[in-house]
Amino acid sequence: MRTNLYLSKRLDSIWENRFFDVPRKNKIDIRFGRAANYRFGSIRYCYNDRSVRITINGRFQDEKYPDDIIDHTISHELCHYAHGFPTPGPRLSRYPHRGGIIDKEMTKRGLGHLITFYKSWVKAYIKSI
Ligand SMILES: [Zn+2]
Repeated sequence: MRTNLYLSKRLDSIWENRFFDVPRKNKIDIRFGRAANYRFGSIRYCYNDRSVRITINGRFQDEKYPDDIIDHTISHELCHYAHGFPTPGPRLSRYPHRGGIIDKEMTKRGLGHLITFYKSWVKAYIKSI
């Protein structure tokens, strides 16, 4: 089973390699949440300590799910962070997914292979649940 430490290491590696221009202004906490079918990840701001919490679908603790689905989910949430979500303050867009901006951001950052992976993987996944 994958651990929260595994998630922290993936987050650090993706950040160092693909999001190095994005200042890490908050303490970022990443962990597995409860198992869900359709929600793979979320990012939210915690007002009490100004940290940011990324939650990854607990289902993906199981190593039968490929590493790429976790990398895709983390990268997706980091695109929100790069766009000013969920921190208070200026935001690039009020509508975080409009116009495919997450996929555009991922492609710009050299993560297009994860989008290709995701599109085929998610079809098989939905059939399997
Ligand atoms: Zn999103």
